[in-house]
Amino acid sequence: MADYPKGPVSHSQVSGYLRCSKQFELERISQYPAPPAWYFIGGTAVHNATEAMDRIDPIPIAYSPEEIAKFWSDAYEAEIEAQFLTWPADEEWLKFGRKGSEQGHAYWFDRGLEAVNAYWAWRLAHPEFLLESIEERFDVVIDGIQFTGRIDRVFQTPKGRIIVDLKTGTRRPESGLQLALYRMGYELSHGLPEGHSGASGGWFMTKDGELHFEPIAPFTNRVLSGILKAYLAGVRQDVFLPNVGPACFSCAMKQACAAVSGPTPEALRYDSLLRS
Ligand code: SF4
Repeated sequence: MADYPKGPVSHSQVSGYLRCSKQFELERISQYPAPPAWYFIGGTAVHNATEAMDRIDPIPIAYSPEEIAKFWSDAYEAEIEAQFLTWPADEEWLKFGRKGSEQGHAYWFDRGLEAVNAYWAWRLAHPEFLLESIEERFDVVIDGIQFTGRIDRVFQTPKGRIIVDLKTGTRRPESGLQLALYRMGYELSHGLPEGHSGASGGWFMTKDGELHFEPIAPFTNRVLSGILKAYLAGVRQDVFLPNVGPACFSCAMKQACAAVSGPTPEALRYDSLLRS
């Protein structure tokens, strides 16, 4: 797949490839058509609702519970409408939760509202975090590789700048790679030498309503550039290995994944493992 990606590299490509390169292949390269997943709809809507709230005023406003619920329900309904355009049969939308629970419309309505409330409670409780940017986009070049991204939030704090990513899942990412890539993108797009943004990184976990600092120092620009190059080499040499494990249960690509479902018609058509 020598011509992938046609545009710039993004963090979501790299993290998707690291999570399961077979899933990456099936979704992004073979383009196996899978219905939208409710966890994706809910997560996107939480991002959009909190973004709308932050954009009204960089100083957090003490919204009433009804006003917060309105921000949430507007964002949730808008995301559902958007997904209808791509996959009208909503009874097919994926409701997989962890350990087999069903997590559909009602589940994500409640969980999303809790998430938006958690974020806003944290914003109100931390006036020392001054909002520097919202959904800041960067398009940079590192060692000849075009790299793009969008940073959920950048805050200025008494202890320095912090790059924050909102997570609506239950577990924190296992490394600070994403935040470090954003630190690099931020510095290159602002014309700052490496490390001169003073930025640290943190995950805002909507589950517990806390900001969790994450070490990003080991990921120097040289390390990050090496990771981007290794990612491109893997994709362009068709290295797509199935990472079979607990995540397969809720994987939207499962039916087309030969290592999990066997030689199904979908796997025969979409999974390169079965191509001779
Ligand atoms: S079912 Fe598992 S191994 Fe197969 S693509 Fe999905 S996550 Fe990867």
